[in-house]
Amino acid sequence: MAEFGPTLEFNRELAPLTTFNTGGRAGLFLEVDSAQLLARAIKAARRLKLPYFVIGGGSNLLVSDDGFDGLIIRVAIGGLSLAGENEIVCGAGEDLMALVDFATENSLTGLEFAAGIYGTVGGAIYGNAGAYGGEIKDVLTGLTLVDQEGEMKTVEPDYCRFGYRDSYLKTTKEIVVDARFRLAPGEGVAIKGRVDDILSSRAAKHPQEGQTCGCFFKNLIDPKEEYGKLPAGRLLEEAGAKGMSVGGARVYDNHANMIINTGKATSKDIRQLADILIKKVHDKFGITLEEEVIQIGNF
Ligand SMILES: Cc1cc2nc3c(=O)[nH]c(=O)nc-3n(C[C@H](O)[C@H](O)[C@H](O)COP(=O)(O)OP(=O)(O)OC[C@H]3O[C@@H](n4cnc5c(N)ncnc54)[C@H](O)[C@@H]3O)c2cc1C
Repeated sequence: MAEFGPTLEFNRELAPLTTFNTGGRAGLFLEVDSAQLLARAIKAARRLKLPYFVIGGGSNLLVSDDGFDGLIIRVAIGGLSLAGENEIVCGAGEDLMALVDFATENSLTGLEFAAGIYGTVGGAIYGNAGAYGGEIKDVLTGLTLVDQEGEMKTVEPDYCRFGYRDSYLKTTKEIVVDARFRLAPGEGVAIKGRVDDILSSRAAKHPQEGQTCGCFFKNLIDPKEEYGKLPAGRLLEEAGAKGMSVGGARVYDNHANMIINTGKATSKDIRQLADILIKKVHDKFGITLEEEVIQIGNF
């Protein structure tokens, strides 16, 4: 295990690293703050035939109560700087909100839609995070990846074949190290105003109590709907999801697509509640909801 360096941790609790605040421990845990350390860790994991899983802010994760019998690598690669004309280069471990703030401070517009989305820039690219009609792919102009061999490469956004909450990185399991965003010059006060409006709108909709991963299920593509998506929350609400609970997991009263940990939920509670919700929507509408949340470990 020496090849992982002195910061390798054993039997690390994962719940505090997720916004659900549930789940077990990782046999091995490593936080990496540089591309070199990340590449070295991937090479070592491969040599040792050790299963590994990469996390960022843990805001879209459901970790098994049995934990993960392998290596969890947390990408904490920082760095935010201006580059070229109206471009920002950003480490994959930066909070997405830190990127939004940096753009605002530099009077660059285009990232306001991302205000209030939890997690890191790497996680946002992996899942093509989006809200309020925008997606991360809209402003991305390039990225550096570490592949499963531990080799680094620079690619254009097209490489990622982005879709709704989807990217080719889900297939290749390549890890984002840094990314480049092209924005447009704007007026600082106006940009800040839009960011604040979105933050207020989110604060009104999102749970103030308990812990959540945001929307559990993907919306459905429907060009007739606002932003081209039929909200899964609407189907869930009509199927009677609100008020349902399993153990300490409950459907949020103000948003049927959010499951919250009211304090004592296990990941199993959340999983069981999600399965019941899938069945309810299927029974009523014949539609099988797809999950936005990513699972780690065995369920
Ligand atoms: C209250 C709340 C509201 C939310 N609202 C929204 C919303 O409006 N829109 C939206 O899209 N999402 C939303 N989310 C979900 C979440 O914020 C996003 O999915 C976010 O982009 C996940 O980033 P993360 O760093 O937390 O990733 P994690 O949860 O740590 O990981 C998620 C996936 O990303 C992969 N990943 C993480 N880092 C990297 C990397 N560097 N390279 C490659 N893969 C990586 C992981 O392997 C995992 O498969 C919300 C969450 C919460 C808690």
